[in-house]
Amino acid sequence: MTKGQRGYFGQWGGAFIPEVLQQTFSELNTAYRAARADKQFWQEYVDLMGNYSCRPTPLTFAENLSNHLGGARIYIKREDLNHTGAHKANNVMGQGLLVRRMGKKRVIAETGAGQHGVATATMAARFGFDCTIYMGEVDVARQRPNVFWMEKLGATVVPVKDGSRTLKDAINEAFRDWVTNMDSTHYVLGTACGPHPFPEMVSWFQSIVGIEAKKQIQEQHGKLPDRVYACVGGGSNAMGIFQGFLEQKEVELIGVEAGGRGVDTGKHAARMVGDTASPGVAQGYKTMFLQDDDGQMLDTHSIAAGLDYVGVSPILADLGEKGRVRFEAATDTEVLDALTMTMRLEGIIPALESAHAFVQAIKEASSMSRDQALIINMSGRGDKDIFTIAHAFNDPSWKEFIISRAAEYSAK
Ligand SMILES: *Cc1c(COP(=O)(O)O)cnc(C)c1O
Repeated sequence: MTKGQRGYFGQWGGAFIPEVLQQTFSELNTAYRAARADKQFWQEYVDLMGNYSCRPTPLTFAENLSNHLGGARIYIKREDLNHTGAHKANNVMGQGLLVRRMGKKRVIAETGAGQHGVATATMAARFGFDCTIYMGEVDVARQRPNVFWMEKLGATVVPVKDGSRTLKDAINEAFRDWVTNMDSTHYVLGTACGPHPFPEMVSWFQSIVGIEAKKQIQEQHGKLPDRVYACVGGGSNAMGIFQGFLEQKEVELIGVEAGGRGVDTGKHAARMVGDTASPGVAQGYKTMFLQDDDGQMLDTHSIAAGLDYVGVSPILADLGEKGRVRFEAATDTEVLDALTMTMRLEGIIPALESAHAFVQAIKEASSMSRDQALIINMSGRGDKDIFTIAHAFNDPSWKEFIISRAAEYSAK
């Protein structure tokens, strides 16, 4: 991975932070550099993930799906089998180890859909840290099951009432907290975005996915894969698996963004596909943002809450610009079709986010030959999405169930 002195990847990245946080970032950089240079730290991380989060996760040969499509052999990297059901565990547990090393006792995080909030609350419980999660008031109302678990895991969830009361307002509030409490507190950023060193550091923890996948595909397929697919929200699961193959130019890397209702409709979260996004500096870093001509962030849409974000990892913006990563977008409708096919043929339920990667792989597999292989990074499991999926499939008995449960509660 290319490493800029101040965290630049080509023209992207950097650290645009308030003066008061300079010291904290400099401490974080020092701690991160020291951990990265220390082989024992990485071993401790690998052991922890083996013990607590089912690593190494399997690489599953999807035989039925491969036969059905009649082209490349399809392998699925099973990040859904992590503790808490997604690759997010890799990042939060890694940062947890770092926080313990820095001697801090409190962590804060922002969350939109709530998945990163649950992962951070889990990590805090495991390490014995105090934990505060900032979440837009609108998201708190939309994501009650995740809020429920964060609180039960011991975290304080603060509903943010500013602005649009969603993710970007939660990010602002988390930074405000950090400025006030920087001596005791670490901000656990949830993806490979934000000011340096977060994009690089989060990618480093996630690289465990690519390291494992590279070894596993060589064992099972006898050679490297021809293509590797990953969905791209902020970009952390994609960076995780891509890093296993970055130096092998013959392996094509494909990032799949949220096409929502279509990249021409204004209702999507495609930053690297189409022409809605433009370069900008916001939230402490430079990347491709979905913004208007005045630099106001646009509303995004995706069926997958985890892909519904205005920015993208500066490292991926660079790899896209250089042509090392090809970007595609999958629409909400295509996602539901790929999800159905994967459930029926393989008995595997991808998260709505992960299903974006499946869409593109399924589109391309049949035009590849039988001795070629592709890997789909399945970032998480789909049972968390039962409310959204059941609603999208317009399942009548599910609707009945929700109504009867609501009646039960209001009767009491
Ligand atoms: C959060 C999430 C994503 C998106 O985040 P990245 O940083 O782009 O990986 C993707 N898949 C799942 C299952 C998630 O929970």
